[in-house]
Amino acid sequence: MRHATFLALFLAVPSLVFAAEPTGVHRQTVGKLEVVTLQDGEIQLPAALLKGIDADKAKTMLGGKDKADTSINAFLVRMPDKTVLVDTGTGGDGKGPTGHLMERLQAAGVDPAKIDLILITHFHFDHTGGLLKPDGTRAFPKAVVRVAQAEHDAWLGENAKVPDMMKDRLPALKAALAPYQAAGTYKPFGPKDDLGKGIRAMSSVGHTGGHTSYAFSADGKEVWVVGDLIHIGAVQFAQPKVAMVFDSDQDKAIAARRDVFKKAAASGTLIAATHLPFPGLVQLKVKGDGFLATPVK
Ligand SMILES: [Zn+2]
Repeated sequence: MRHATFLALFLAVPSLVFAAEPTGVHRQTVGKLEVVTLQDGEIQLPAALLKGIDADKAKTMLGGKDKADTSINAFLVRMPDKTVLVDTGTGGDGKGPTGHLMERLQAAGVDPAKIDLILITHFHFDHTGGLLKPDGTRAFPKAVVRVAQAEHDAWLGENAKVPDMMKDRLPALKAALAPYQAAGTYKPFGPKDDLGKGIRAMSSVGHTGGHTSYAFSADGKEVWVVGDLIHIGAVQFAQPKVAMVFDSDQDKAIAARRDVFKKAAASGTLIAATHLPFPGLVQLKVKGDGFLATPVK
């Protein structure tokens, strides 16, 4: 009997070891947390969008290219008591290079109707577009959608100052939130609000007026989903003082990047970032004025 059990295990193990993940899906276990990267798509960001670096230097750091291959990752975090999705990709029909979140969820065996909570890092379209199905209804009918009140106010508050280059995105943002507002499941949070056991918001303002990173923890193990604290890793890890033209306050964006990354390096915390190459997971060390990032695969 014992022999038969060993034999069964022996036969089962190779299929576990070599089972390929579906395209655009990556699972990472961190203690009792499971982080599933879901690749919404891939785009290219021109190096000219970087601010605070000489164009030739940036090109050298990008291996001689004028553009950086950039992923759009969303992160599903399975916690002991709930399933959380951080950001929702671009939305749309998924027939182009982006908008593949729904098919990634399906491939990962996740029913969107069972996701409990959606945490939004910020209101750019590549993080909020997937809140809706193409027919305009909620893609996540059970989920409560939460975002920092500061981010809500920066875009939709009475004194909102939406950058000119983003104004044409406002109608789509309002449309993405409307069905959740109507259902009473859109709930911005303040600095002292509780997001639930094992979840902590870390204000990391600068990319937008209320950009927020989220720390997930279970039994002392943590992972931090940091949204757009970094865009082009090949440049901005080594030179965190380089900003992006999309950063609404470049100085604050740089300070937030340094602050959160220093803490992650000191604590050995796994970082998950939207635009790092799939699956968007890195371990950081301090190196000189910047950071050395080791991708987790
Ligand atoms: Zn983004």
